[in-house]
Amino acid sequence: MNSENFRKIEPYVPGEQPQDRDRVKLNTNENPYPPSPYVLRAAKEMNASALNLYPDPEARELVQSIADYHGVGFDNVFAGVGSDDVIAMCFMAFFNSEKPILFPDITYAFYDVWAELFKISYEKIPLDKNFTIVKEDYFRENGGIVFPNPNAPTGICMGLDDIRAIIEHNRDTAVIVDEAYIDFGGESAADMINEYDNLIVTRTFSKSRSMAGMRIGYAIADKALIAQLKTIKNSYNSYTLSTAAIKLGSAAIKDEEYFIETVAKIVKTRENTAQRLKKLGFSMTDSKSNFLFVTHEKMRAAEIFERLKEKRIYVRYFNKPRIDNYLRITIGTDAETDALIAALTEILEGAK
Ligand code: PMP
Repeated sequence: MNSENFRKIEPYVPGEQPQDRDRVKLNTNENPYPPSPYVLRAAKEMNASALNLYPDPEARELVQSIADYHGVGFDNVFAGVGSDDVIAMCFMAFFNSEKPILFPDITYAFYDVWAELFKISYEKIPLDKNFTIVKEDYFRENGGIVFPNPNAPTGICMGLDDIRAIIEHNRDTAVIVDEAYIDFGGESAADMINEYDNLIVTRTFSKSRSMAGMRIGYAIADKALIAQLKTIKNSYNSYTLSTAAIKLGSAAIKDEEYFIETVAKIVKTRENTAQRLKKLGFSMTDSKSNFLFVTHEKMRAAEIFERLKEKRIYVRYFNKPRIDNYLRITIGTDAETDALIAALTEILEGAK
């Protein structure tokens, strides 16, 4: 066929998923710990012979478990195939103005891809020199706002007062707060959905719930917004969540103890890794996520990235303006941190 009819778009490039076992994988912000034992049990009990049937298009079991966890109504929750799916649906559902939507210049790289795909005009608002979101920059006419909190890949968290100010100044347009990493140290805006009918908070099971492989994400918002999201979903793909995702996700969110324990371990390793990296000459932002965003005083990030890869240690490097001398390093287990520090010590020996 004539490729002139192909849709032209620059896609998002996800981090590598190397298939070899003998490697340290710190490049896509997964959780290094397995899912809760509740999930493992639910997986064993799953009735595979019922897979001839479509899943519940409303994913009721999962949506109700999420609603119970947050203390909100069933009608305040929308679930999807990872928060990528949920945020993409939000773009389709709420960003339908001639005015540009706003998001930071340094942020989750999927936002501009969705804006391009759905032909939504957008404007990137520069972070300040410390990589901080300046709330006043969002006090202006727009077609909607989206930003992660904590931001990615900087890990920097915004306080709830600043988020409230952004929502207050934009009561006529949708404000999406992408809380993919909120459980690692930030304060959630989720409770504010009762006050603001223009706020959507999105979450994922991929990070703090150790379930990136199951692809579960959700939005919490006012009922009218959730109804609109369902309208969009049912105009595109009714059965987004698989039977397995519904069952296992619902089991995962019920295990509060395991969740608290694994998140605490990651936060502790993060602080410990930060101290060890500082001793090696790295500086970094104050990350409240499950990753660190670091730069070295002597060696370029691109070189460190390549040298680590030779040692089968995978981290993330973005060859983009303002951040091309930074690495984003996911927090792994303590043993993975030891391997990282040993490799960096060796690599940096040569830079002295
Ligand atoms: N938002 C941000 C800021 C992210 O970094 C990610 C992970 N790539 C996502 C959303 C999407 O995560 P998932 O689709 O796994 O829920």
